[in-house]
Formats: sequence, structure tokens, C-alpha cells
Amino acid sequence: MPPELTAALALCRNLPSPPGIALRIIELAQDPEADITTAADIIAIDMALSARMLRIANSPLYASRRRIENLGQALTMLGLNATVSLALGFTVAQDLTGAGAGQDLRERAWRRSILSALAASLLGQARGLRKAEELMLAGLLQDIGVLVLAQSQPEQYLPLLRQAPDNQALVALEREHLQCSHAEVGAWMAEQWDLPRYLVDAIARSETPAQAEDTFQTCVALSGAVADIWLAADADAAREHALQQVNEALQLDSAQFDQVLARIGEALPDISALFETTVLAPARVQQLIDHAQELTTLRNLRELQDAALARQRADEFEARANRLAEQAHRDALTGVLNRRQLEAVLEQEFVRATRHGWPLSVAFIDLDDFKKINDAHGHLMGDEVLRMFASKLQEQLRTSDTVARFGGEEFIALLPNTTEPVALEVVRRVLASIVATPMAELAEGPLFVTFSAGVATQGGYERFADVQDLLKAADDVLYRSKNLGRNRVIARSPGTAPA
Ligand code: GH3
Ligand code: MG
Ligand code: MG
Repeated sequence: MPPELTAALALCRNLPSPPGIALRIIELAQDPEADITTAADIIAIDMALSARMLRIANSPLYASRRRIENLGQALTMLGLNATVSLALGFTVAQDLTGAGAGQDLRERAWRRSILSALAASLLGQARGLRKAEELMLAGLLQDIGVLVLAQSQPEQYLPLLRQAPDNQALVALEREHLQCSHAEVGAWMAEQWDLPRYLVDAIARSETPAQAEDTFQTCVALSGAVADIWLAADADAAREHALQQVNEALQLDSAQFDQVLARIGEALPDISALFETTVLAPARVQQLIDHAQELTTLRNLRELQDAALARQRADEFEARANRLAEQAHRDALTGVLNRRQLEAVLEQEFVRATRHGWPLSVAFIDLDDFKKINDAHGHLMGDEVLRMFASKLQEQLRTSDTVARFGGEEFIALLPNTTEPVALEVVRRVLASIVATPMAELAEGPLFVTFSAGVATQGGYERFADVQDLLKAADDVLYRSKNLGRNRVIARSPGTAPA
């Protein structure tokens, strides 16, 4: 993407962000320890999502299997990967088609996405790929760039969308006016949302089948052309065009291709009902800050000539927009920064510290024997402890310091402008306070935790080449703390003593 567009998108406070439930599912997708029970716990919170999972499990896509009666059965039948993919599909994109400018165009794009989802999945099946749900998700999200552009740059983008008679023409117009295609924008967005790598890559190549690196990406890249058979004015020409590509890239013959089309037709009513309810239903979670809607509201308020009220509403919108932007940067369980955002902040601070010769300290913090807490009191209590711990950690540090969850029970504290001896003292003080603070109340009394930490500093005893080196140094010292018996904080440099 041209840098100007990346900058415009990055600054755009109107960008869609996935609803909270989707954020939790994204985290789940990345958690190597996730299991179907955790998935069920998350999905069960959301009635509409649960209902959709149940319906899809009973749809013709899985028709050969027995009738599924409840969410537990549905998820068990689907398995963890399929569950996560489908749930992501249902939640990530759902608010992108709400009211606002160009609604008809965005709905058309959404219909194409649903068709593409089926097409990708069934093309894959015809080629013997065992990734039906992942393909469906990639097919569904491949055109997310269209929705993002329509949402964030309506003045510039909606006219292109209206003008383009078909997808090929749209891509040509995008290249001419934006110097990139919606595939690149979609991949960028998917990356911002922390979606799994395979999705980012499949979206990135979705408009350039020739660049697909494997059958999975090819299926996704060809799914749009198959979808167009249902959408184009001249269905026969669209079929010819799609068949030619599918034959060339996937070696399916005309009979096999027609079988794929028949299966799409068969599954379509159910699947589109499943998604269309979302399209038409009032937004369940008011996650998406719709620019147009916001303007209309403000205009109405002004007509009421109630400047004070308008001001207040505007502030509320602003605050909500900020909150939503924040959410994508935060860990869903603890509310501290997530790892991706930590990396961004760390990179920035590292460059600044290195350039000006300021010290930058990093503490790698790992709770001691956390597994035992889970084992003794259950995972939910473990979660509660993590939440409390993160909040206490944050409380103990300055606002200019950054607290992030690195993963599991590992946290990072970033202390800009802080020398190693001072950082050591600070983190030791935090430890002293944490060990004295109950993290939860159990029937048998308060629950306490300890942690081990390693501190390393850029611009102190050593100069690290990059952020990864600095983190690794802190991690090495953490390892030393663990070996020395836990419940302690050690600094990297020899002879570091509190100043
Ligand atoms: P050590 O003192 O050596 O660090 O021991 P430990 O038990 O803390 O470390 P280990 O890495 O063996 O185990 C970490 C545990 O943290 C295992 C994992 O199940 C748990 N865990 C990771 N993420 C979460 C989470 O989000 N919630 C809960 N409840 N537990 C988590
Ligand atoms: Mg631990
Ligand atoms: Mg650990």
C-alpha cells in the first residue's frame, strides 16, 4: 500500500474494530493451549453467536451428520479449528455492513463475501483440502478491504465502487486511484486485527491468483470469480470466466465445477440466512462507529440548537471512538496492552532511547508456579488472579511506564528514562507490594502470589542491537531468577545495586 494510504487508515478514527467477543476469539485462535471448553465458554456468552453456530452445524454443509441439539454438541462435532474459524467469520465482519453512506454497495460486497466463503470452501473440498472452515473464513474476509475503504474513505471510495461494473473493473479503478487494491487494504486490516497469518496471506493474494503460493490461497483467490456467477448480469459469461480460471489453476473439469456450483446453490439459502440476519438485524453490539451516522446525529442536534448537548454528545462519540480504538490494542482478559501493541510501543521507545542516549529499562515478569493455581482452583480463578495481578502491577507503576501481557502469565513492564539500578528498585518494590496483596479471596482464605522478574536496560551496561535482543536479555535474567528459587527480581548488569 502507498504510505499515504497506510497513514490515512492508521489515523482514521472511523475504522471498524472487531467486537469484544471477536477479540476474545482471535486470542483463542492464537492460544496453543486453547480447547473446545474454553471456546464454548466464550461463545456461550453471546446468544446470537451460539444460535448461529448451532444452525451452521445443522446446515447442508454438515448435513450428512446427525441432528445437533445444543451448542456443546455443535462445537464438539465441528472441532476446535472449525469452531474458531466459523465464530470469527460470524463476529469479525458483522458490523461492517451497518447503516450509513453507500449501504447498498456495502451490502452487495457483503453478499459477494458470503458467496465467496462458500465457493472457497467447496472448491477446496473438490480438491481434497481438509480445511473447509478456514477456507470459508478466508473467502468471507477476502473482500474486507472493500468494506474498510467504504467505511473509512467514503468520499473517495464509494464513487469507485458505484462506477465499477464488476470486480476486475473495481480492482483496476483502485490501482488507478489508490495505487493499491482492496486485497492489500484487507490484508493490512487483518494484520491490525491480529488475525492468524494464513488469513492475512490469503487475503493479500486474493486478487492475484497467479501469485497464490498453495492450493488454499488459490481457492480463495478464485472464489470471487465463482461468486460472481450469482451476481453478474451475464451469468453464463461469468461461469465461463470462472471455469476457465478454475480449470487452469485447480485442474477441475467442467463436470466437477458444476458439482461445486450445485453444492454452493444447495448451501446458499441457509448460509445467507445465517449471515443476512446479521446484516439486517440492529447492531447487537454498537461497536462500529459509523461516520455517517455520527454526522447525522450531530446535525440533528445542531438543529435543536442545543449547543451544550451537542457538545456533550460529540464528546461521548469521541470517547467511544477512542475506547474502541483502544480495545484492539488491549488484552481482552486483563485490559493491559497486548503483545502486538507492546511491540509497537517498545520499538518506538527503543528508537527514541537509542537516538537520544536515554536509558530504557524492560522488566520481564513471570508469575511463580501459576500452573499450580490453575490446578488447585480452576482456570477461571486463574483468570481472576491474572486480572487482579495486571491491575495491581499497573497501579504500582507510573503512567509513563507501560504494562503489557506478553502471553499466558508473563508480563512486561517498560520503564522509559529509567536506569537499571532504579528499575531494579522499582520492580523490587512492586514485588514487595504484590506478595502482600491478596489476588483473590477463597473459602479457605486469601490467595497470594509471587513473581520472578529480570531487568535489562538499553543504554546502561550494554547496548542492544534491537528490541528483540533487549527482550531476550531480560528473559535470560528472568530465567536466572527462576533458577535461584523464584520470588525475586534480578538485573542484567553485574554489580547493579539500588542507587
Ligand atoms: P514457573 O514458576 O516456572 O513460571 O511455573 P508456572 O507454573 O508459572 O509456569 P508454566 O509455564 O509451567 O505454566 C504457566 C501456566 O499458566 C500454564 C497455563 O495453563 C497457565 N496460563 C496461561 N495463560 C493463562 C490464562 O489466560 N488463564 C489461566 N487461568 N491460566 C493461564
Ligand atoms: Mg510462571
Ligand atoms: Mg511462563
